[in-house]
Amino acid sequence: MGYFGCHLSASGGNTAMVKMALSIGANTFAFFTRNPRGSKAKKEDPADAARAVRLLEKHNFGKLVAHGAYTMNLCTADPEARAFAAEVLEDDLRRMAALPGNFYNFHPGSHVGQGLDAGIEYISDALKKALRHDYPVTVLLETMAGKGSEIGGKFEELKAILDAVGNANVGVCLDTCHIYDGGYDIVDDLDGVLSEFDRIIGLDRLCALHLNDSKNPFASHKDRHELLGQGSLGLETFRSIVNHPSLKDKPMILETPNELPGYQKEIVLLRAMEK
Ligand code: FE
Ligand code: FE
Ligand code: ZN
Repeated sequence: MGYFGCHLSASGGNTAMVKMALSIGANTFAFFTRNPRGSKAKKEDPADAARAVRLLEKHNFGKLVAHGAYTMNLCTADPEARAFAAEVLEDDLRRMAALPGNFYNFHPGSHVGQGLDAGIEYISDALKKALRHDYPVTVLLETMAGKGSEIGGKFEELKAILDAVGNANVGVCLDTCHIYDGGYDIVDDLDGVLSEFDRIIGLDRLCALHLNDSKNPFASHKDRHELLGQGSLGLETFRSIVNHPSLKDKPMILETPNELPGYQKEIVLLRAMEK
């Protein structure tokens, strides 16, 4: 049985999220470590985290996939803003120690005209610094659609960051909408895309997936998520993904335009596809 879940609101605390996940049949989930469009983090509550950890174990959850704020751009041009983003990353990883052994995924960043190489260097430097502390969390770089100066739209870019960081505690989270928009044809050639991933990055670094259909056609570099089966990826693509030997045991997180009941329906749909 695979690990399926969705983005949940963290506002009620960790235990509340696990209960919410259970109520919709999820056995993993994602949550924003702080306001996704700002930087404010909520107060830490160790007792609540400990309760959540017990519940996660009791119900055999897969690894959770926390998500860094969209506003955290480790390679932004302004040095002060860049330093602040690096601090936010470090604080997020420290906070993840309350839920040990899970994943923390983030968007690598946008180089905003400084160039790919400079961007990759800033991102790697911030990661190296944050990872010095050895917090019990694996950091995941998300595959991006390659919108504007976004870094991470190509496997080579993620590989360059992984190499520069040189820490085994960094992996990749594959977002289905993003890579299809980014020009990787997982609709007609999932195996080909995964072999390319393996050749460039290594499938051992692929730790989690975001399951989203796309509102836009192949290689549009747009990044607009759609409900499963209502976009350009289609249900058969998701059927292949949930049953693929290299993918089926990884946590799969829905980021489709849904509220809880919609997510619950999609989780039922995904479980029905499992062979
Ligand atoms: Fe994301
Ligand atoms: Fe995503
Ligand atoms: Zn997206």
